[in-house]
Amino acid sequence: MKIYLDNAATTALDPNVLDKMTQYFITDFGNPSSWHSFGRDGLKAVDNARDEIAAILGAKPSEIYFTSCGTESDNWALRGAVYASTNKKKHIVTTTIEHPAILDTCAALERDGVEVTYVAVDSDGLVKLEDIKKAITDNTVIVSVMTANNEIGSIQPISEIGEFCRDEGIYFHTDAVQAVESEDLNVDKLNVDLLSLSAHKFHGPKGIGILYMRSGVKIAKYMTGGHQERGQRAGTTNTPLIVGMAEALKITVSNRDQYVKKVSELRDYLIDRVLNEIQFAHLNGGCIKRLPNNVNLSFDYIEGESLLMMLDLNGVAVSSGSACSSGSLEPSHVILALGVKPEIAHGSVRFSLGRETTKGEIDYAIEVLKKSVTRLREISPLFNVQKGEGSYV
Ligand SMILES: *Cc1c(COP(=O)(O)O)cnc(C)c1O
Repeated sequence: MKIYLDNAATTALDPNVLDKMTQYFITDFGNPSSWHSFGRDGLKAVDNARDEIAAILGAKPSEIYFTSCGTESDNWALRGAVYASTNKKKHIVTTTIEHPAILDTCAALERDGVEVTYVAVDSDGLVKLEDIKKAITDNTVIVSVMTANNEIGSIQPISEIGEFCRDEGIYFHTDAVQAVESEDLNVDKLNVDLLSLSAHKFHGPKGIGILYMRSGVKIAKYMTGGHQERGQRAGTTNTPLIVGMAEALKITVSNRDQYVKKVSELRDYLIDRVLNEIQFAHLNGGCIKRLPNNVNLSFDYIEGESLLMMLDLNGVAVSSGSACSSGSLEPSHVILALGVKPEIAHGSVRFSLGRETTKGEIDYAIEVLKKSVTRLREISPLFNVQKGEGSYV
């Protein structure tokens, strides 16, 4: 048995997407910037993909920029806004629970003298508009708040924050990488100026992303070189991946309602059974305003990494912290931001369900989880097996 419950880290490529892409690797491989039929065929496919993506986001095709990934889109939005700003001092407002693509970029900009305010979230992982308002200064160049969190799945009030930023004349960016499968990403409804997406989080190929940029927004280019993407993002146009991303987005959006219903039922089933059947288990993050596929749990007296390894030995693939920051043994910055104690944050494990996940797989994962938690507590010096309870030293 091999069960994949790590869809927030990446998703499997949809076979229909691969079918669409193949010809652009092999026969229609021309460089869309070339002035011959091979190039024109490539350009036609890219233009078509751009039109389809723009229509889904409620944007103009000229507002869609192709990048290499979500990380690049996030970097470009923040650095581009700072580099283009004529403010004497430059200030960014973001939150404490952003993806490292935002937080690490902010840290790098801070070393260059940019000021950053990290707005805290409540115990459900939600940011309040009031707190964003308080963080704004005369120097604020851009506000960046993620649509949905990758570790705990909390969904932020993007539309309200966006409305406020627009009234203040401050650019508003959202990292919507985790939100594509369940949320309506119409850029006008969200009131965003800039929005990042990544294809491999919605069953598209890895290595391709989008930065939506509203007309009139002036941010500096990030990649210099050729004149691709209207002179704003140099690098040979990646026709097959762009075509694949558009196809993956179309499929994902057309199945959204069905996906949300199916996956949220499985999520609630998993949460209910774990909290009822395993002692000293906690759900991290709130129950409402949560991605339908996200379950983040902590188990007292257990390290998330040990649990992850034991689940993996039994064929169940999950994540502790985020794939981007596990590698370090620090507790997750997101779980800590909820006000959870470090020792409990250490025990956090993320299950992220996918559109192919079945109830049978969830049942199997729960059985493996119960056995693993019992076994790890038996060998935990902090847990008194006889009494069935423990204490932290
Ligand atoms: C995965 C992820 C990213 C990074 O996207 P890549 O395409 O892998 O670089 C950024 N933000 C969030 C919220 C993510 O989940």
